[in-house]
Amino acid sequence: MSRKLYDITIIGGGPIGMFAGFYAGMRNAKVQIIESLSELGGQVNALYPEKTILDVAGFAGLKGSELINNLQTQLDTMPEVEQRVGTKVTNVIRKDDHFEIETDQATYETKAVILATGNGSFKPRELRADNVDAVAEKFITYSVRDLKKFANQDVIVAGGGDSAVDMALMLEPVANHVSLLHRRNEFRGLENMVDKLKASSVEILTPYLIKQLDEIDGRLQVTAKKNEF
Ligand SMILES: Cc1cc2nc3c(=O)[nH]c(=O)nc-3n(C[C@H](O)[C@H](O)[C@H](O)COP(=O)(O)OP(=O)(O)OC[C@H]3O[C@@H](n4cnc5c(N)ncnc54)[C@H](O)[C@@H]3O)c2cc1C
Repeated sequence: MSRKLYDITIIGGGPIGMFAGFYAGMRNAKVQIIESLSELGGQVNALYPEKTILDVAGFAGLKGSELINNLQTQLDTMPEVEQRVGTKVTNVIRKDDHFEIETDQATYETKAVILATGNGSFKPRELRADNVDAVAEKFITYSVRDLKKFANQDVIVAGGGDSAVDMALMLEPVANHVSLLHRRNEFRGLENMVDKLKASSVEILTPYLIKQLDEIDGRLQVTAKKNEF
């Protein structure tokens, strides 16, 4: 039996890998996309499907889930592009005239490799504070996959980059009250979004560090201390 040799193997099925797969299909290349998660869509699908993304060219705003659905529909117009989800690439070995792609399922051969692994498998930088382990499962989340879960809740978002600013603004119309707690006075988010934040009802708490977390009568009590520079 002759071996199957792919023209292109795309490692990572986030938005970049999905579009690369579609375009390689347009070129009639023999292509596979290998994605370790159970679905394509990368960070957008896994971490913020409900966020309205403002900086996709040609769209004045579309939800993360809409972007991924559109990319999936576009990719599915190329049925010959193989979509392998739930498969983690563990090694890429260069041979004389091709590459060997080792995964946790099987080994594949390919003439070319496109690395579309983004930040790799995304692990959040976990919050460090006294007693965090005792309250983490019930009270702490590192992504917002379902906005409805926060309806009428009092929420503290910790951080000062794009993700924190965006999450605070996304939660504002849904939650009862949103605070954004950051260890510095300046935010690293996009200037325009920081302006929107300052004009919103989000309570800005700076410069604070979360020191301790306790469950009191079914609610989370957050103790923060002023950050001394
Ligand atoms: C909360 C948040 C909000 C954001 N908001 C915006 C925004 O508004 N606008 C914007 O432009 N950007 C935003 N970003 C950034 C944006 O999501 C990323 O730039 C984008 O997802 C990068 O796409 P990608 O396809 O390169 O990588 P990713 O989306 O990271 O996808 C990479 C994929 O590769 C897979 N993978 C990694 N290693 C392997 C392996 N060994 N084997 C198999 N699969 C593997 C991963 O599982 C993942 O699915 C945001 C990010 C976050 C976290």
